[in-house]
Amino acid sequence: MLKADSPSSNFIRNIVLEDLEANKNHGRVLTRFPPEPNGHLHIGHAKSICLNFGLAAEFGGLCNLRFDDTNPGREDVEYVESIKSAIRWLGFDWGDREYYASDYFEQLYQFAVRLIKDGKAYICDLSAGQMREYRGTLTEPGKDSPFRTRSVEENMGLYERMRAGEFQEGSRTLRAKIDMASSNLNMRDPVMYRILYATHHRTGDKWCIYPTYDFAHGQSDSIEGITHSVCTLEFEDHRPLYDWFLDQLKVYHPRQIEFARLNLSYTLMSKRRLLELVEQGHVTGWDDPRMPTLAGLRRRGYTPESIRNFCERIGVAKKNSTVDIALLEHCLREELNRCAPRVMAVLRPLRVVIDNYPEDRVEEVEAVNNPEDPSMGTRKVPFSRVLYVEQEDFREDPPKQFFRLAPGREVRLRYAYIIKCVGVVKEPVTGEVTELHCTFDPDTKSGSAQGGRRVKGTIHWVSAAHSLEAEVRLYNHLFVKPDPDDVEEGADWKSNLNENSLEILTSCRVEPSLAGAVPESHYQFERLGYFSVDSSDRTLTFNRAVPLRDTWAKIEKAQKKG
Ligand code: ATP
Ligand code: MG
Repeated sequence: MLKADSPSSNFIRNIVLEDLEANKNHGRVLTRFPPEPNGHLHIGHAKSICLNFGLAAEFGGLCNLRFDDTNPGREDVEYVESIKSAIRWLGFDWGDREYYASDYFEQLYQFAVRLIKDGKAYICDLSAGQMREYRGTLTEPGKDSPFRTRSVEENMGLYERMRAGEFQEGSRTLRAKIDMASSNLNMRDPVMYRILYATHHRTGDKWCIYPTYDFAHGQSDSIEGITHSVCTLEFEDHRPLYDWFLDQLKVYHPRQIEFARLNLSYTLMSKRRLLELVEQGHVTGWDDPRMPTLAGLRRRGYTPESIRNFCERIGVAKKNSTVDIALLEHCLREELNRCAPRVMAVLRPLRVVIDNYPEDRVEEVEAVNNPEDPSMGTRKVPFSRVLYVEQEDFREDPPKQFFRLAPGREVRLRYAYIIKCVGVVKEPVTGEVTELHCTFDPDTKSGSAQGGRRVKGTIHWVSAAHSLEAEVRLYNHLFVKPDPDDVEEGADWKSNLNENSLEILTSCRVEPSLAGAVPESHYQFERLGYFSVDSSDRTLTFNRAVPLRDTWAKIEKAQKKG
């Protein structure tokens, strides 16, 4: 077992370990992941999923999936399905333990009745505005509601009539009778039930009163026998209330433990804001590859393993902080470097004619699929007289350190020959370079006996006649600033949206081995980055998951030095 000083340990694991050692819960570990079905899951949720399912797996326990569906109106079955498929995709399994807080509505109602009968809850007729006034502030105590002293009989009668739909929405609430002078505002007679005439996605119109999060959550944990109820820091101040309900009801009492939520630079995690981006058309949908949603990351080219790995590496802390998005990119790069086959693709093609290469000749050169993993083998790539190379691999007037193509200069074509640029064709009006003429040296074929002659630069290429046309989408950060909320006074966080977060290139050329590439499969385009096949397109479309340049490795190096 992982002890406190093991690299993967964290304070929550240590609590679970202590509880196991003390034989609390008879050695049982049962966690839960409790999403509200009001949006799609994002990378922050992945942290919570990995933590909850991870703890259960590590200690031979189980993790429930529980939809926290106590807000009809904002919730939808569409979200339920998308949440389930995202968790499965991440690699976790809740077995047959798919629960809904709404499954417990009757029992929660009965719990409330118990509190009313014990004189620990009352029906309050204050409006929302009045309730706020009575509540007091952080520095001033609140005032008792004039309805606080209602008799048990009156409260029971009113509660039954609330359920029966006799009162208007917002006219009454059921409140816990705790302490209006408590220094913790959550303990100042919090609302347990409110009247809502909304159709629920599961219970339909059966109910017109709905429990609040605070009343539903702990009791649902208790009903399921959860041992460790892990949640984010903003619920720390709710813990006394979580404990109070369970203590008053004298039911099984799980332990709530809070950890810091994940924040990532150059993006944001609020479902409400992500919804705004979708609704206002700043992105193409929840699965837009620029979104931090699991659906978006998946389409972008992220793998479940890279995300799990990231969640492991960021650890679990007690204090909020922001993680550099470069670390997430690094985790993907690390995996794809090992696993993704390498291919050649030219994003901005420049035509090259090899004047001394026979017009009707086609050779197949042998290319290595992944030098990191010889077992991935080799493939044949056709080479012919007319090729495409990257526009940026040619400079008419090259700077000193430019070792690629230029008039009179030699360069090696990856896996093939050394060529020399002998002519440049330009568009007469704009002066734009449209074609290069080169000669090849037949004695320099890669892998051949004399092929070893060295030149400084090697560039990638495809054969014009054999390559396939493809669309390539280059993504950049969604926001221009690490913190999207870093704005001038009065300005909106959306003013930090990156106008250049997407660049679409429609006339790219890729080597023929990519014909029939399967959606969501990954490739390294040599010298360019990691790409994945888009799942929603019929034409060959690639999303750039991450460029090759690893900014995280640089940061780490600098940290070690400093
Ligand atoms: P949002 O504020 O974006 O609406 P939420 O917390 O309301 O998110 P829920 O559906 O209630 O979303 O979250 C389900 C679980 O995921 C909760 O236990 C929550 O604490 C956890 N969670 C949500 N966001 C993060 C995050 N950024 N980092 C870690 N855990 C998170
Ligand atoms: Mg929530």
